[in-house]
Amino acid sequence: QDELRIAVGAMEMNDKTVSNVMTKIDDVFMLPDTTILSTKTVAEILRMGYTRIPVYSGSRNDVVSLLFVKDLALLNPDGNFTIQTVCNYHQHPLRFVMEDTPLRVMLDEFKKGEYHLAMVQRVITEGDADPRYELVGVVTLEDIVEEILQAEIVDE
Ligand code: ADP
Repeated sequence: QDELRIAVGAMEMNDKTVSNVMTKIDDVFMLPDTTILSTKTVAEILRMGYTRIPVYSGSRNDVVSLLFVKDLALLNPDGNFTIQTVCNYHQHPLRFVMEDTPLRVMLDEFKKGEYHLAMVQRVITEGDADPRYELVGVVTLEDIVEEILQAEIVDE
């Protein structure tokens, strides 16, 4: 029964963290900020089908902004614009959360409506070295809703 499943999903949410539902970093489609937005690259971005694309500078561990696919709608493909230029123009908020953030806390945060995708990170402490952050995935509102409904939401 659907109602029971949703009730169970909502209760189980209390024991889960962001890392249980995120998309792992190796499966995240992201692009370097130096990418030139030609017809070819824009076509590739559209083909992937994601709404938001993390943009990194140098290494995949250094995500610096988010590109929204809708930002590309009015772009001149012959303008030789880089992703960095487009991101600097739009400045969509980029948020980071720790992988052990409780799902309930993440849901309440998403409900405020300022953003619906967060980069997930973990702290690495090795010996005497300073602790550093490692990116481990992305989490969106849809990941949490799926967890509550206990069902996959098939994308359009
Ligand atoms: P979209 O609108 O791009 O489909 P959703 O918020 O509906 O994004 O999330 C759908 C699923 O896709 C979620 O599991 C989410 O973690 C994942 N996702 C979102 N953006 C990306 C991306 N750039 N690369 C890989 N997975 C992503």
